[in-house]
Amino acid sequence: MEDLFDPGERFAAGAQWVAGRPAHGRSDRSQAVTDPATGRELLRFPQAAAADVDEAVAAAARALPGWAGATPVERSEALHRLAARLAAIAGDLAYAETRQCGKPARLTREFDVPGTIDNTSFFAGAARHLSGQAAAEYSGDHTSCVRREPIGVVGSIAPWNYPLQMAAWKILPAVAAGNTIVLKPSELTPLTSLLLAEAATEAGIPDGVINVISGSGPEAGERLVTHPGVAMTSFTGSTPVGRRVAELAARTVKRVHLELGGKAPFLVFDDADPEAAVHGAVAGALINSGQDCTAATRAYVQRPLYDAFVAGVADLMAGIRLGDPRDAHTDLGPLVSFAQRDRVAGFVDRARGYATVVTGGAAPGGHLAEGAYYLPTLITGAAQDSEAVQSEIFGPVLVVLPFDSDDQGLELANDTPYGLAASVWSRDVYRAGRATRELKAGCVWVNDHIPIISEMPHGGYRASGYGKDMSVYSFEEYTQVKHVMQDITAVARKDWHRTVFGDRA
Ligand code: NAD
Repeated sequence: MEDLFDPGERFAAGAQWVAGRPAHGRSDRSQAVTDPATGRELLRFPQAAAADVDEAVAAAARALPGWAGATPVERSEALHRLAARLAAIAGDLAYAETRQCGKPARLTREFDVPGTIDNTSFFAGAARHLSGQAAAEYSGDHTSCVRREPIGVVGSIAPWNYPLQMAAWKILPAVAAGNTIVLKPSELTPLTSLLLAEAATEAGIPDGVINVISGSGPEAGERLVTHPGVAMTSFTGSTPVGRRVAELAARTVKRVHLELGGKAPFLVFDDADPEAAVHGAVAGALINSGQDCTAATRAYVQRPLYDAFVAGVADLMAGIRLGDPRDAHTDLGPLVSFAQRDRVAGFVDRARGYATVVTGGAAPGGHLAEGAYYLPTLITGAAQDSEAVQSEIFGPVLVVLPFDSDDQGLELANDTPYGLAASVWSRDVYRAGRATRELKAGCVWVNDHIPIISEMPHGGYRASGYGKDMSVYSFEEYTQVKHVMQDITAVARKDWHRTVFGDRA
């Protein structure tokens, strides 16, 4: 991947995007965007203060009547133009994402960016397909119909692990349904959200429909969640912060959509294809350096396959190529930050006290020591109630445990507070089919783990949150349903009035 631009120069006009223009934040505090592969600062920007959030919300409120009043075809055409614009700047998007996150170029070019363009095209089409119950005379005397209306100004908060895709998942269903939005990306990774907002302006989406505020959670994030002019909070991030966000949003009775943490089980029955399971586990655990809310984190393997599975995963992990994320041959880049690397290392170091670290378990040396790298790590022998099995590590770490009966495997797979995603591996349709029913998760894969598609919903059960991203299901979050009931009899003294006053005729 070539050096396409200097982020310091590219974003010199500011790391905020308000009312169709870049702006500088007015907080006293500044924030660095750091290349985690080298530790070098790419950009330093003044963070958004509460006043910047207020300005962005005001811009979104001004844009709301025009955008909500646009026809579905007008919104659809605008999103189609955005998809075309994103395709035109695909190289810039992939470059910025790789630099700010340390994601391998292969992942940003072949997953993050095309996925975002596809999502944009999907919502361009979906904007014309809001659905509801058929209008009819359900009472006999009235025509009832449903209006599906936008909520208003949406305040969205996104994490650092897939900054571009998370921005798209927040923005697209909201604006397709006629809302306007203020998005706060993670302060660590604002660059691709800014490019997306700029592309929207270039695509002719009216000023103020999409605004980006780059600032900290406590300052900009909490102002956005508590702002009385924001009608809905949509949050993707960790479960503890999501809990705080929901509490704050309750004060102004906002609608809340939460996409939170995960600890996805990877359940391998003894009739599974062993090669498919091993390859699936390594890909599912190491995607985005394991910083994926649906990553395979706990593999439960039925006893007859267990030893071969552990050996196979250890073998594949040993061959993973760590390196410069811009190099097309790199499999695994650094984690997003040194703080995240140290957090992951803490989990693994503590696990040594109660489990076996089969491979990995350290930061690599040599020239990679200057980045936030961590070796692919395989842990066995951990108890079900241990930290490594129960907590979200969010790094390239897979824990493998054996099980005996199908019932036991399913019980262990469901035994964490989370419920975002799960996979089952079997060649028996009945065993796999039963597992898809029993697993408590918002997505269950059969003989695969990770793929997502724009047409299908993504969202959690239990401590992984509620509400759906992507697909037409996301319109349930970003619209409110109004029942309109219109009398068709023109009768002044209606029969039902006698239940309130007067005598029976
Ligand atoms: P995080 O919860 O630390 O931060 C997420 C966002 O919240 C950031 O923009 C942050 O600035 C903001 N924030 C922090 N404190 C806040 C506060 N008090 N008020 C308002 N906003 C605040 O999460 P992260 O470390 O950026 O991302 C990793 C987490 O995101 C993991 O738990 C992962 O599972 C989760 N995630 C979930 C999904 C999903 O679809 N369920 C997708 C991606 C990531």
